[in-house]
Amino acid sequence: MFEIQATLAIGDEKMGNGFWEKVLRVDLTSGTITEERVPEEIWKRYLGGGGYGAKVLYDEVGPEVGALDDENRLIFSTGPLQAARQTGAAKFTVVAKSPVTGIFGESAAGAGWGVALKRSGYDALIIQGKAATPSYLLIHDNTIEIRDAAKYWGQDAFDSSDQILEDSGLEKASICTIGQAGENTVAIACIVVDKHSFAGRCGLGAVMGSKNLKAVVTKGSQNVPVHDQEKLNGINKNIGKTVHENTKDWLRLHGTPFVEVGCDADGDTPTKNWREAHWPEGAEKLGSPNYTDTLNAKPHGCAYCVVGCHRDIEISEPEAYKMKGPGPEYESLGMLGNSCLMDDVKALSHMNDLCNRYGVDCISMGSFLAFTMDCLENGYIKPADIGGVELKWGDKENMIALIHDLGNRKPGFGELFADGIVPAAKQLGDKALELAPHVKGLDLPAHDPRAYFSLALNYATGSVGPHHERGNPQVATAGFLLPEAGVTEIVDRFQMENSEFVAAKYQDYGTLTQAICHCKFMLFGGYSMTVLLDSVNAITGWEWTMDDMLQTAERIFTLQRLVNVTYGIDRKDDTLPAIIFKPSEEGSRAGKYPHDFDAALDRYYDLRGWDQNGVPKQDTVDSLGVF
Ligand code: SF4
Repeated sequence: MFEIQATLAIGDEKMGNGFWEKVLRVDLTSGTITEERVPEEIWKRYLGGGGYGAKVLYDEVGPEVGALDDENRLIFSTGPLQAARQTGAAKFTVVAKSPVTGIFGESAAGAGWGVALKRSGYDALIIQGKAATPSYLLIHDNTIEIRDAAKYWGQDAFDSSDQILEDSGLEKASICTIGQAGENTVAIACIVVDKHSFAGRCGLGAVMGSKNLKAVVTKGSQNVPVHDQEKLNGINKNIGKTVHENTKDWLRLHGTPFVEVGCDADGDTPTKNWREAHWPEGAEKLGSPNYTDTLNAKPHGCAYCVVGCHRDIEISEPEAYKMKGPGPEYESLGMLGNSCLMDDVKALSHMNDLCNRYGVDCISMGSFLAFTMDCLENGYIKPADIGGVELKWGDKENMIALIHDLGNRKPGFGELFADGIVPAAKQLGDKALELAPHVKGLDLPAHDPRAYFSLALNYATGSVGPHHERGNPQVATAGFLLPEAGVTEIVDRFQMENSEFVAAKYQDYGTLTQAICHCKFMLFGGYSMTVLLDSVNAITGWEWTMDDMLQTAERIFTLQRLVNVTYGIDRKDDTLPAIIFKPSEEGSRAGKYPHDFDAALDRYYDLRGWDQNGVPKQDTVDSLGVF
């Protein structure tokens, strides 16, 4: 066992309001722990979260660095809101070059970890290098230790969370950990936070595993300085009441499974590997109210949150699916359920639990399974390719078996999909590749651009690839608008005209919340951009106008694009799977698909100030003050 401890002086320098202006850097190769001063000017320009993370990638991780190389950086970053003690303000963001896509990778999580890091006296944590043996990092205010994790290596994410926390001797600490999938550098491995929140997308758990880093335990006891506490208290009180009132009868009561039936009715949820538009009989069984009743589901929230959209569920029978803990979200229902035609909500909850414990992204896992079912049906995969498993649509027992195989990276299915859907499909041939629902290597999440056309440009141009939260323009069709950004009217879901504007504005909103580190679900409770601006100003004292804040979002999005341009991304990559251009013959979106996509992409580039190859123009970079 080795142990390095560095005691760092905190408190004798200037502290920016909402920011400590301090970043902790840990080099696992050398065991060096350093504290870096990052001035307020940088936070003002990039905010934190995915903004600060993009800057670190741009400055430190060149195109020659592979995602699983020691030289990749794993950046855990907070923003100003972690000073707020406000509903929705417990988020943080993890950034690295993604092993799934090879480009900008980013994922947000909640629970209490980001707040704990901030209260430790740091705005962000940068991890680089690779530990010689399995290790975990402990951050407790100004005590930082790299500790031996050999005895936890091989344990699932939940068991290791419990044991590491117990052995750490820290009460009420928060923990980010990986399961066996991350240890095995399975590309879709996620980071598990306090056993109920997940930095799910982009394979950041595999980056953690590649560094021999099992966990980061964090506990902080310092109050983050705030510019105007009285004003902030007033905002917190009012917005907490408003959000609670507006969400208590749906999002708090049922969580995201509330939307399952409605999304199916709109033809939004992927059905049978994106081949069909609706599956109402399955959606009824998977979504609420059946979900809530069958699973005895209760709300569970991140720190300070008045919504509690996460689900705590309990299954007592059958024995094989017995569990108590976090239940599936809508995305898991859509991908492991509708897309695989699997309608047993208890079996799905068990699969979700396995994914959580192995630490794999449920969205990609569901995508791999549905794709495999499709390929088997079409003869593009033979059962012998996946360990002799005859996987049929809805075949829950074999789905469970294959989740175990991927989590453990077993020969057959586990090895075939270990690097993601595109490397797997390439091994299987061109016809299989045509069935793989991805953009830039990342599996599509459970919303269909044929149901909401503005999703087409969002998925094609998103900084991490297709994402349901780095831009969720479909919510503009349901009245969750962004008037401060110019989205003032409900948007027709089948409208390509002006879809570039709607996509861009929700991408900017997603980028902003991801950098400020605030929960986008607050929008559903009436938390407007004006409240966000007032909160930022109360915390920082920056006296920003709305234009200042909107421009910052554009600046960060542009920086993320520049990171991707450096990694070789251009117009050829800003596309969609062929199936998205095939309309269904029946149902509520019969005959509909995001038509004239190339023309819309031209308009999008113009609006963004990018050239027709998708590269930000120098004028744009200069006028936004990207550097
Ligand atoms: S709404 Fe859900 S994700 Fe957002 S802060 Fe609350 S519990 Fe966390």
